[in-house]
Amino acid sequence: MKTRAPQPKPYILDIAPYVPGVAKAADGRALVKLSANENPLGCSDAAAAAMVEPHNAARYPDPHSVALRTALGELHGIDPAQIVCGTGSDELLNLAAQAFAGVGDEVLMPRYSFSVYPIAARRVGATPVEAEARDYGADIDTLLAAVTDRTRVVFIANPNNPTGTHLSNEDLARLHLGLPDDVLLVLDQAYAEYLEDEGAAGLALAGAAQNVLVTRTFSKIYGLASARVGWATGAPHLIDALNRIRAPFNVTGAT
Ligand SMILES: *Cc1c(COP(=O)(O)O)cnc(C)c1O
Repeated sequence: MKTRAPQPKPYILDIAPYVPGVAKAADGRALVKLSANENPLGCSDAAAAAMVEPHNAARYPDPHSVALRTALGELHGIDPAQIVCGTGSDELLNLAAQAFAGVGDEVLMPRYSFSVYPIAARRVGATPVEAEARDYGADIDTLLAAVTDRTRVVFIANPNNPTGTHLSNEDLARLHLGLPDDVLLVLDQAYAEYLEDEGAAGLALAGAAQNVLVTRTFSKIYGLASARVGWATGAPHLIDALNRIRAPFNVTGAT
């Protein structure tokens, strides 16, 4: 008799699955779900029209999202070769942890961060480390003090979800300057549009530095959460690493 079963890695069993917001109460009543930050206005008419355009669902989509990367590159003044698209920015956050951290490594984040970060760390066997927050936001000194020689990745959402705090561009620059060159700083700009410069300083840092990855998403501002489209930009060697491990057709043809 077989008594043995495949065993998930112990660090996989340490993961508490991501808990999405609920749309219905226990008695079936519809709730106003604020936790997922879905756009109450929906997507634009142009996006809706583009999505119902008949496309051949039997064919695989462009594996390199060339048209989308080209358009993003033009919009933001970025070389499309320094952009990678993902199944939402969640995929890219996970890929960043997977490419740069593993068993025995630490992934650093402020307390009260986006709940995907500890999962992204644990699923590759790394240890999520939370630096104490200040007024529910990231504290640069505490974060830098928490860096060890095992720290491989730092996650910062700016602005932050779920607390709505944000860091100034000066704070971000100080954080980046204080980090060792071999630590990847992932700047999650899911809500960049709330910043005065709409995240331009973060994009500039990703363009200039060798260890900064900025992630963006169509889910929130463009009301396209269901389309699952995000993108990341950074130095070519960072984008190359993510391209090696992403799924081959990770952005659907509908978009
Ligand atoms: C919503 C959100 C994301 C990811 O959204 P995707 O739909 O996967 O692009 C990433 N970071 C933060 C802080 C978010 O709130």
